[in-house]
Amino acid sequence: MPKTTESQKLKEKLFSKRPHAGQALTDAQWESAAAYCEGYKAFLQAGKTEREVVLCALKLAAEQGFEEYKSEKKYKPGDRVFVNNRGKALIFAVMGKAGLCEGLRLAAAHIDSPRLDLKQNPLYEDGDLALLKTHYYGGIKKYQWAAIPLALHGVIIRADGEKINVSIGEEADEPQFCVTDLLPHLAAEQSKRTLSQGIKGEELNVLVGSRPFREDGGSELVKLRILQLLSEKYGIVEEDFLGAELELVPTFPVRDIGFDRSLIGGYGQDDRICAYPSLTALFSLKKVPQKTCVLILTDKEEIGSDGNTGLQAAYFMHFIESICSAASVPVRDCIDSTECLSADVNAAFDPTWPSVMEKNNAAFLNKGVVVTKYTGSRGKADTSDASAEFTAKVLGIFRAANLLWQTGELGKVDEGGGGTVAKYLANLGMDVIDVGVPVLSMHSPFEVAAKADIWMAHRAFEAFFAV
Ligand code: MN
Ligand code: MN
Repeated sequence: MPKTTESQKLKEKLFSKRPHAGQALTDAQWESAAAYCEGYKAFLQAGKTEREVVLCALKLAAEQGFEEYKSEKKYKPGDRVFVNNRGKALIFAVMGKAGLCEGLRLAAAHIDSPRLDLKQNPLYEDGDLALLKTHYYGGIKKYQWAAIPLALHGVIIRADGEKINVSIGEEADEPQFCVTDLLPHLAAEQSKRTLSQGIKGEELNVLVGSRPFREDGGSELVKLRILQLLSEKYGIVEEDFLGAELELVPTFPVRDIGFDRSLIGGYGQDDRICAYPSLTALFSLKKVPQKTCVLILTDKEEIGSDGNTGLQAAYFMHFIESICSAASVPVRDCIDSTECLSADVNAAFDPTWPSVMEKNNAAFLNKGVVVTKYTGSRGKADTSDASAEFTAKVLGIFRAANLLWQTGELGKVDEGGGGTVAKYLANLGMDVIDVGVPVLSMHSPFEVAAKADIWMAHRAFEAFFAV
């Protein structure tokens, strides 16, 4: 055996090591990760909009004994409750043994994803084709959304008050939709545009039909026939689009990626890839937790967390105020001692695009959950920066649970940047740090992540809740 040199010994003692799942996980653990991810794949396939994720999560919660929270009811340690905010955001809680003055164990993920929303007056006819006008939601590279199959999901409230749930394009016998792109033969002018202008916002028009209503003469007969079909199927008229929430999402099925099946490809992994592990971690709590454990699955993160279902809204604090008031604990005492994991994705190092990353601080696939002390941009603007004390505490929990974890800064300094819900929670006065899963092709119609990291996220939230 070769002799260990002094420098090797000292390196072993002093250098930080960020092991790779390839070496750090046993074959049995790789299998556990793959088995765990089958549940995630089903969740991702079934929940393509925030409303659908709420339904999926509530279905799982019902199996785990969660009941709708009632402010007048007295809860005891171990009780499991949920709050449903307008069918678009959820709060889950498992009541702990300790008083609320000791704070909560909180995790927060978001369940909205970038997509194409329909405009209020979407349907029109041009060139004998029927199309829908859209307004994109969240940060997308618009060119990625042309020439791919899309499905239409959402709700329409008819004038008579009837709520119509729409989902067209996911089943094999259903039609799909698409944004058309220019053929390369005629794209000389388009090709001179910058990438961000390759497909412009007003060019994200969705093809929905071509066969006209049978009548000689008259205008807009293709549009008319589409409305006739929609009227027959849903009982709607054109005006019912005005308030509808209809979202076009990619229809690529969730699939294993790679010969070795170590990765998962699918739409909307940001941030259902953190919503699912934090949810399964909370649901799998075996013992009554010491502190009350709370999970928020919030909406509107991709457009700034505004609105009554976003995390800048008061719905979360209303719940905390309600449980604190029932326990006669001042809300600020509870919030001040609350510890939170902001559960969101981070960019994984992509060997095809290395120049935007600073390798010492980038996250890599298969190196475990990413612990991100701060996000933001331009000199740490627009972020909370977790304290040294709280960072050490969270890393201590992860070390004790023998987890694979890594740090991850979102790209090189001044390369760009981004944010999460961490700052909104930190602004309330609690300790918050970002913990999540690294992904490739973030915000694209087909995001990619590693099974080992997803499983590790589940274990990380489990360890955090169980403390
Ligand atoms: Mn996100
Ligand atoms: Mn995002």
